[in-house]
Amino acid sequence: MTQTGEQLCYTDAYARSVGATVRHVESGEATLVVLDRTVFYPGGGGQPSDRGLILRASDGRTWTVVGARKAGGEIVHELDPADGDPPHVGDELQVDLEWARRLALMRTHTALHALCGVVWRDYGALVTGGNMEPGAGRMDFEFETMSGDLVDAIEATVNAELAAERDVRVNVLPRDEAFAIPDLIRTKINLLPPGIAEIRTIEIVGLDLQADGGTHVANTREVGGIRVIGYESKGRINKRIRIQLVDPLVAG
Ligand SMILES: [Zn+2]
Repeated sequence: MTQTGEQLCYTDAYARSVGATVRHVESGEATLVVLDRTVFYPGGGGQPSDRGLILRASDGRTWTVVGARKAGGEIVHELDPADGDPPHVGDELQVDLEWARRLALMRTHTALHALCGVVWRDYGALVTGGNMEPGAGRMDFEFETMSGDLVDAIEATVNAELAAERDVRVNVLPRDEAFAIPDLIRTKINLLPPGIAEIRTIEIVGLDLQADGGTHVANTREVGGIRVIGYESKGRINKRIRIQLVDPLVAG
C-alpha cells in the first residue's frame, strides 16, 4: 500500500497549482487519474468539485480536468474524454485549478457559514442541508417562524458580520475534543461515521463553528456582500433561504 496522495485543499485553500507525478490511471467509461499530490477539491458538503487543467512537463500536452471525487481515500481526477489517451504512470505534471471558479466557491461557502451562524445565534434555527454553485447557494433550516421581514433582517445582519472582517480558521481536532464543543453539536457531528478519528472544523471567529471539509476564504472581508434572492417553505418547519454574492467574480 502506498501512502495516500497529498491533499492540499484541506490545508491551504489558496494553493491553486502544484507539480505532481501520476500514480494511477484508469481508462474505462471515464478517464481517471490519481496523483501523488493535488490542489483539487473533490467535492462534498454542498461544495462542488474543482475543474482545471493538467499539463505534462515533458511535452507540454494538456488535459482538461472536468471534475474530481474521493474514492478509497484518494482524490481522483476525471479527464475530458475528448482529450484523447491519458498520461502515463510516472509522468510529471503541472496541476492547475480553474481559480476564478474555486475562489467564487470559497467566498460562497464562507457566506453560507456566516448565514448559518447568524440564523443560529439570532433565531436558534438549525441547519438541515445546503448546496452551492460559484456565487450562489442555499441553506435549509428548521425555522418555523421565518418570514419576509426576518429574511430582510438576516440579510442585513449577515452583511454586517462579513464587513466586520472576521478571520476564518481551519482546525483539525481529535474526535473527543470536537464532541466537547457545544456549538458543533448543532451541525450534527454525532452523525459522522464512528471510524473518523479527527474532525476538521471551520471557524468564523466570533460567529460560527462547524465541522466541515470544504474550502473557505481566510477572512470574511473577501466575501464582500450577499443578497437574499429567495426564500421558501419546504413544509411547516423546514425553510430554505437562497443567497447570492453581490459581486460573484471578484478577481483573486
Ligand atoms: Zn460548509
